[in-house]
Amino acid sequence: MSNTERTFIAIKPDGVQRGLVGDIIKRFEQRGFRLVAMKMIQASEDHVKQHYIDLKDMPFYGGLCAFMHSGPVVAMIWEGLNVVKNGRLMLGETNPADSKPGSIRGDFCITLGRTIIHGSDSLDSANKEIALWFKPEEMVEYKSCQNGSCMSK
Ligand code: UDP
Ligand code: MG
Repeated sequence: MSNTERTFIAIKPDGVQRGLVGDIIKRFEQRGFRLVAMKMIQASEDHVKQHYIDLKDMPFYGGLCAFMHSGPVVAMIWEGLNVVKNGRLMLGETNPADSKPGSIRGDFCITLGRTIIHGSDSLDSANKEIALWFKPEEMVEYKSCQNGSCMSK
């Protein structure tokens, strides 16, 4: 358990196209997690195939990868205590139909093929996904003004 645990969160093409970027970022900010990196990117098909490589034998793999590649995604790294597990709780269940109201999927979507957001499912996946989507120099170090470090004297 660490305050510097990191997870990979991506707003998928449907989330971007439906104008949900702000709502989703707001939830992670207001929970108290810290944004470490963010970019909007239309990933190549090879890139999204690699991202979902664990699902390569599933019947929906081809359609999922084609969809992820069909438009821009907003890729982010969020940091904080238990952010991997709590990020997943904030997302809701894989099937939006089973996601509780109050979760992102439970509030904003209804169908398995259009789940609007990706979140790493373990620390190991988070590390792999962060390395796949971001270069070290894209991860930004900064101090919060809430700790007094940037108050003027
Ligand atoms: N998915 C799908 N059909 C399924 C299961 C998953 O289209 O039967 C899609 C869905 O968009 C999901 C993504 O594949 O978000 C990745 O699946 P995973 O099991 O990793 O779910 P997640 O981690 O996104 O909850
Ligand atoms: Mg997954």
